[in-house]
Amino acid sequence: MKRFLSIAFASAALCAGAQEAPMLKIYSGAPDTIRSAETTLVCVTQPGARASIADEAVHVYRTGSFGSKVALRPGLNRVSVDVEKDGKSTKRVLEIYRDTVAAPKRVAKETPETRFVEGRWVETLPGAYLQYGNGDDRLGGSKMGFIDEGIVLKAVGEKGSLYCVQLGDNRRAYLPKEYASDAVAPAVAGAVNTGSWSVADAGDVDRVTISLPRRLAYSYATELDPSTITVDVYGATDNSNWITQRTATLGIIDYVDFRQVDSDVYRVILRLKPGVQWGFHVGYQGTSLTIDVRHRPVSLALKNLTIGLDAGHGGPYPGAYSPSGLKEKEVNLDIVQHIREILEAKGAKVVMTRTGDTGPSMAERKRIWREAKVDMAVSVHNNSGGGALSSPGTAVLYKHLFCRPMAQAVTARLLETGLPLFGIVQNFNFSLNGPTEFPEVLVEGMFMSSLVEEEKLADPAFRRLVAQKIVAGIEDYLKSAR
Ligand SMILES: [Zn+2]
Repeated sequence: MKRFLSIAFASAALCAGAQEAPMLKIYSGAPDTIRSAETTLVCVTQPGARASIADEAVHVYRTGSFGSKVALRPGLNRVSVDVEKDGKSTKRVLEIYRDTVAAPKRVAKETPETRFVEGRWVETLPGAYLQYGNGDDRLGGSKMGFIDEGIVLKAVGEKGSLYCVQLGDNRRAYLPKEYASDAVAPAVAGAVNTGSWSVADAGDVDRVTISLPRRLAYSYATELDPSTITVDVYGATDNSNWITQRTATLGIIDYVDFRQVDSDVYRVILRLKPGVQWGFHVGYQGTSLTIDVRHRPVSLALKNLTIGLDAGHGGPYPGAYSPSGLKEKEVNLDIVQHIREILEAKGAKVVMTRTGDTGPSMAERKRIWREAKVDMAVSVHNNSGGGALSSPGTAVLYKHLFCRPMAQAVTARLLETGLPLFGIVQNFNFSLNGPTEFPEVLVEGMFMSSLVEEEKLADPAFRRLVAQKIVAGIEDYLKSAR
């Protein structure tokens, strides 16, 4: 990253020295034909040049980017863009035609509804997850959560790449077909009886085991106050006459309980001791539902913790570009390298998903964190979209409610950089926000598409500041967890 920037600035300096006319690149906002009455023109020249758009002087950022809104008359508009540096100038006249004929009505893209069928039995494969509905967006439909392999479910419908599966009498969900294989119907139809529970302190987790005659689908949720984990098991009816705590004390669980919330929906309730949660894992051992609830680390000093870091994108996946040519994968990695350096100086162990220009898959990144048993994790990206002339600001995103205290702590520190708040985003569907085993947040530092934020992002000192604030947020979170 550092090398990339110094090369970029060095070549600009060389051009200036050679007394050539300053370059001018029209980056966006100059289509041949447009229907709106104004356009936001974004251009790039050399740092230090002066610029005007439609004969109005505009501010040139230190990146060389500049832009302004341009009002357009009906018909042909000629918009001049001028840049000047060291007495040399470059001029472009853009021709933009404003079409005042009403736009043709957009035909809504047809989204096929779920087609319900007679029913076939499918079995979940490793990596499977359930979605609440058949919706979709850039990151996929909203996930209920991951479920273990070997769970046999009745598919009662399909839509595109999804099966609609029946979880219980009144409950359906969606399972991606890529995580389903054909299966035979279970020997016993309908809900099954639950068996004995075992609850024990197993070292760095409290383990809850519930015996079942076969693997059933489940979903999980966390609550903050009182601190609780609930797991709904679908197709089960209570017959657990033995709920046995096998160690005299427990690490993080205060007590356990259950509710039969529907005739075939069995809710496992794990009430935790006050304080922040540190993650959990739900899965099967044989046909026993096994919930591991992670203890809070014995020591919350950074020197005793392992922090997972992820620089978004990389290798063949550049992520977003800024107008002046910053690549998201490079600025992400630069910020993460600073975080690593600061954390390691404080004695923390750091586990990186990538240290160079490589693009590991999301599954690989999660595997690296899980295998290292990280205590917490941060993924760093930078955003794109929205108006180039505004400053949308910083965002911290997470999926599970128990990650909220960490997200709040990191956000509070990031705002000390002077960046405005874009948002603290919950239930975010990003793959690396999916794991439940540790607290994790995604930081979208700032908007690469915003000229003022691009200038900050291009500044090595500001990237270092962002890294310092993320570490300060982690430390605040750890203090609050004590
Ligand atoms: Zn990104």
